[in-house]
Amino acid sequence: LLIEKGVAMGWTYDPTNIFARILRGEIPNRTVMETPHTLVFHDIRAQAPVHVLVIPKGAYVSLDHFAAEAPEAEIVDFHRTVAKTCAILGLSGADGFRAICNTGEHGHQEVPHYHLHILGGRPMGRMVEPV
Ligand code: AMP
Repeated sequence: LLIEKGVAMGWTYDPTNIFARILRGEIPNRTVMETPHTLVFHDIRAQAPVHVLVIPKGAYVSLDHFAAEAPEAEIVDFHRTVAKTCAILGLSGADGFRAICNTGEHGHQEVPHYHLHILGGRPMGRMVEPV
């Protein structure tokens, strides 16, 4: 019950975060595609020839928050939108792409609204830098 309410995991959504402001139309974005549940836009500091962010329109802090609490229709829509985005941006072929989801402090998440980075158009290197 606690997990269902997001209390045990500490998921407290901050509605002033920059992606919430994008979703409210308060600041502009370069949209790739949009559905009733999901928005895809270009990252403002692209780190590859293709670098977009896929975000749910709902108020979810992180991947685990979204996966635990979002209605199934939103979860399905999110992932179908990932597939369409890869097709639109020419990433669905053999070359592939990198999908990254930074979460929390250890994951170096800067914006506390769940987002999936999709990067491609060049070899992306190792998954994690050796420490
Ligand atoms: P993360 O560290 O995973 O939270 O990454 C946040 C990402 O959001 C970074 O790659 C930023 O470049 C990107 N970002 C921040 N503000 C904006 C914005 N206004 N429009 C598009 N991307 C943004």
